[in-house]
Amino acid sequence: MRYSAWQILKEGLTGNKGWKPVWREPEPKAEYDIVIIGGGGHGLSTAYYLAKEFGVTNVAVVEKGWLGSGNIGRNTTIIRSNYLLEGNQPFYEHSLKLWEGLEQDFNYNAMVSQRGILNLIHSDPQRDAFARRANAMRLSGADAELLDREGIAKMCPFLDFDNARFPIQGALWQPRGGTVRHDAVAWGYARGADERGVDILQNCEVTGIDIEGGRAVGVQTSRGSIRAKKIAMCVAGSSSRVAAMAGMRLPIESHVLQAFVSEGLKPVIPGVITFGAGHFYVSQSDKGGLVFGGDIDGYNTYAQRGNLPVVEDVCEGGMAIMPMIGRARLLRMWGGIMDMSMDGSPFITKTDTPGLYFNGGWCYGGFKATPASGFCYAHLLAKDEPHEVATAFRLDRFMRGAPIDEKGQGAQPNLH
Ligand SMILES: Cc1cc2nc3c(=O)[nH]c(=O)nc-3n(C[C@H](O)[C@H](O)[C@H](O)COP(=O)(O)OP(=O)(O)OC[C@H]3O[C@@H](n4cnc5c(N)ncnc54)[C@H](O)[C@@H]3O)c2cc1C
Repeated sequence: MRYSAWQILKEGLTGNKGWKPVWREPEPKAEYDIVIIGGGGHGLSTAYYLAKEFGVTNVAVVEKGWLGSGNIGRNTTIIRSNYLLEGNQPFYEHSLKLWEGLEQDFNYNAMVSQRGILNLIHSDPQRDAFARRANAMRLSGADAELLDREGIAKMCPFLDFDNARFPIQGALWQPRGGTVRHDAVAWGYARGADERGVDILQNCEVTGIDIEGGRAVGVQTSRGSIRAKKIAMCVAGSSSRVAAMAGMRLPIESHVLQAFVSEGLKPVIPGVITFGAGHFYVSQSDKGGLVFGGDIDGYNTYAQRGNLPVVEDVCEGGMAIMPMIGRARLLRMWGGIMDMSMDGSPFITKTDTPGLYFNGGWCYGGFKATPASGFCYAHLLAKDEPHEVATAFRLDRFMRGAPIDEKGQGAQPNLH
């Protein structure tokens, strides 16, 4: 069923009885061409682009819980392409371009809202670093502007410009950045993949990866074994656990990241704002809640909830740049498991085991990558060659001395 204004009107006038389930609940088949492990944003977008762009439809997405139960439904919904390094910038710009046409492409309202992202600058060296970043962005075709205090004050008069410790000196502004309703992204991709013949298998946990003669040939699941010509891992915070089923040890640590939402307020935050002297960022949802977050909890965990020291740290960051946030009441908070890579950059790659592929290491920035990650992973799976904007995301980059250390802070996930 294609959605349209006419369809909504018709259903509204006839008691909304004609809507159909958005995807099927099929039984697993004995064999597929490709099995994708993980029904998060990246797994579903991979399936969608495999079917739509590369004509590969004999595909299953195997998800241990329900669609949207992982980070795709837990993130703070920010999209942007304000990256510096060659290995990253063209990839994230490709993603932003895909976001721009996504709703028309999969005929689903994902509330893509390009309301802009503002990275605040608090020192002269930081201005130099952001100027360099802005130049790199513009050279690769993205949009970037440097704002002075007056330019920011027009947009965000509520910020504490003269904070004694962190005075605001300017900002990097990317107008095309913004927010997207995260769970609608999962539903839109799932619907688009399903209608092209992909089987989405919920409540189906992968418990083992079958390797015969050195080649990956299938998966063991809680709903039986499934053979496959190719197996594509795409499990975000569970990457190390699933890769271990194939005897792989990854350059990834799992950490929890928390997010917070306040009671609904009148519109006040124009776009996304990030604090440049601490780890705090905020936007406002269309329902009015201030959606904000900060740093990861600095210990390894697979728990989807965090601890109070980071709550305090995030609230301190908020108070430092916008003291009025202290008057807002907190409504909800939650956590998700981050697959923190050692250089802060992701992987879309073959593995040393023929037939086995890996997508992960997205840290806390993988939501904005969802379209390009799926597109490039589908390209790799269909053609066995990396897409031109994802050639740097290989697992062997640490062995080759070619990490993509965007922040220059080394192999310490809690510093990225
Ligand atoms: C609080 C928070 C805020 C964030 N904010 C942002 C943001 O503003 N912008 C941004 O770009 N990114 C953000 N992120 C990061 C982003 O959400 C993730 O990088 C991205 O969603 C990861 O990819 P995914 O959607 O495929 O992951 P997931 O949705 O986690 O998908 C992985 C799936 O694999 C499934 N799985 C795991 N093990 C198995 C198994 N054995 N068998 C079958 N299935 C399995 C899981 O159940 C899960 O559904 C944030 C994350 C969090 C937690």
